[in-house]
Amino acid sequence: MRTITVPAVQEGQAIGVDLGGTKILAGVVAPDGSVVRRHERPTPQDSQEHVLAELEAAVAELVDDSIAALGFGAPSPIDQERGVVVRCVNVPLVDAPLRDRMHERFGLPVGLDNDANAAAVGEWKAGAGRGSDDLVMLTLGTGVGGGVISGGRPFRGANGAGAELGHVVIVDDGLPCQGACTGRGHLEAYVSGTAATVAARAAFGPSADAHRLVRLANEGDATARELLGGIGRRLGSGIGSFVNVFGPRLVVLGGGFGVAAFDHLREPAEEVARREALEPMRSTMRVVKAELGTAAGLIGAAFVGFEALDAA
Ligand SMILES: [Zn+2]
Repeated sequence: MRTITVPAVQEGQAIGVDLGGTKILAGVVAPDGSVVRRHERPTPQDSQEHVLAELEAAVAELVDDSIAALGFGAPSPIDQERGVVVRCVNVPLVDAPLRDRMHERFGLPVGLDNDANAAAVGEWKAGAGRGSDDLVMLTLGTGVGGGVISGGRPFRGANGAGAELGHVVIVDDGLPCQGACTGRGHLEAYVSGTAATVAARAAFGPSADAHRLVRLANEGDATARELLGGIGRRLGSGIGSFVNVFGPRLVVLGGGFGVAAFDHLREPAEEVARREALEPMRSTMRVVKAELGTAAGLIGAAFVGFEALDAA
C-alpha cells in the first residue's frame, strides 16, 4: 500500500508584506526567516482605499491556520502609537490606519514599520547581520533609507519615524534633497541611485544612468570608478557619523544601487568612515553587503509581525 505523507502544518508563521511604489511583495515566513510561500501584485496608484484593499487581498492570498501574525513595511514614517502609515512617498496612503484595519479584517496581531527599518530587521534576523545585535543598515536606491538595530532592538524613535539616516547633513548648505524633504546637503542627495544617475549623465551623456555607471566601472572605466569612489567617500562621511552615534559592529549596505555598486563603494567608504570614527568603533566596524536582496523587506516585515505577536 502506498503511503501518502501529509506535511505537518507548521504553527506560528507570519505573513510579511513589503509595500513598494510599484509592487506589493508578500510572503509566508517561518520563525527561522525562510520564505515558505510568496505572492506579488501591483501597487495601485489611484486611491488609498484601493491600496488598502490590495494589501488585504495580498494577505488573503496567503493566510491559513499556520499564520500567527501579520507585519507590514511601508515607504513612510509610521505613527507606532496609533498604528498609522503617516504619508507614503510613491503610494497614495496618507494617515492610513493600517494596523486596526488589518487586525479587524484578519483577527491577528499586526506590526507596522517603515520599509527601511523592516529591511534592517530582515538582514538582522536572516541575512548579513545574523547574530549581530548592533548594526546600521543603509539602503541606497531611489532615495537612501536607514535602519538601526541597537542592543538587539530596532530603533524607532518616539513616534516610530526613526531612523531616517539618509537625511543627515554631510555638507553644510549643500545640494537640495529630493521629494518632500526641504533640507540641503543631506546624505541622500549624494549617495542615492538617483544621485549616481545625475553623476553618470554629467560624465557620459543624457542616456546614462546608475546601472550604466556601475557596468562601466566593472569593465574598468577610470572615470566611472572615480565617480563611484567619490560617492563611496561621501557615504563614508555618513557612516563615520553613524558609527560614532550607534557603535555598530556592522554597517550593512543594501538597496538596488548599494548592492550593485558595493565592490566600488566599500573601500572608499570604509577608509573615510575609519578616519571619522573614534576608537574602539573604528577598529571593530565592518561594511558588508546585504544578503536578502528584494526579499529583505518582506522577511523583516514578518519579523515585525512576530514582534507584535510577542507583545500581544
Ligand atoms: Zn533630506
